[in-house]
Amino acid sequence: MRLVILDDYELASEWAAKYIRNRIIQFSPSADRFFTLGLPTGSTPYGCYQKLIEFHRSGDLSFKYVKTFNMDEYVGLPRAHPESYHSYMWNNFFKHIDIDPANAHILDGNAKDLEAECQAYEEKISEAGGIQLFVGGIGPDGHIAFNEPGSSLVSRTRVKTLAKDTIVANARFFGNDLSKVPTMALTVGVGTVMDAKEVLILITGAHKAFALNKAIEEGVNHMWTVSAFQQHPRTIFVCDEDATLELRVKTVKYFKGLMHVHNKLVDPVLSMKIQ
Ligand code: PGA
Repeated sequence: MRLVILDDYELASEWAAKYIRNRIIQFSPSADRFFTLGLPTGSTPYGCYQKLIEFHRSGDLSFKYVKTFNMDEYVGLPRAHPESYHSYMWNNFFKHIDIDPANAHILDGNAKDLEAECQAYEEKISEAGGIQLFVGGIGPDGHIAFNEPGSSLVSRTRVKTLAKDTIVANARFFGNDLSKVPTMALTVGVGTVMDAKEVLILITGAHKAFALNKAIEEGVNHMWTVSAFQQHPRTIFVCDEDATLELRVKTVKYFKGLMHVHNKLVDPVLSMKIQ
């Protein structure tokens, strides 16, 4: 496990974006070899998407041969609703880059048969060759995607009822009206994310500090689903100082002492030749 600690949200977002950029460029994607990227929504990844858009605009990064798979979507919220994850992704990321819309996959929370939709999503991921890099965020209760406390740590894409904590946390996007927050979602499972070759989890803010402690300093526990990634061979947690407030000084010092190693991972690499 790597733990990368940056001073603040901006720097954490930038570090994560550079890491994603480098991974895509180093993969040398082409028409017969797409890079597959798992993506989250929420307030945390917003800054990272802004940076990726900048890298695209400066000509350093193309998404022409990238397929994306989003983690989750609300059930029953119209696709065009401003708070749907479709809207979030198109407004904050996809419409600003050169991805082919056919390659940007998001679960359909309005599908007639939700279970079939989840099954088909798993199949699409497999057909794409699996996920190279899954980027995720977590909730203050340690959920990854919408894998709420108590979710199976080998779960696959499925329908999930949201926990009260999540509904309360997300009410800020719905005028602080709890009754307007959808209560169900489609989500990739912990097992779906665990199958990715590599996982990058962004954790920022003091309100996530307890979850980061549970994620990395205690055992694997399905009540803190993000802790499952202790058992993934290539997980990077990228966080800001505020998120480290509940960690041991020893843990923070150890990982900060490795920053010169971690920073090599985000050194500039050659820009992509867009074919
Ligand atoms: P946030 O949401 O980035 O808006 O904090 C993360 C989550 O709930 O998974």
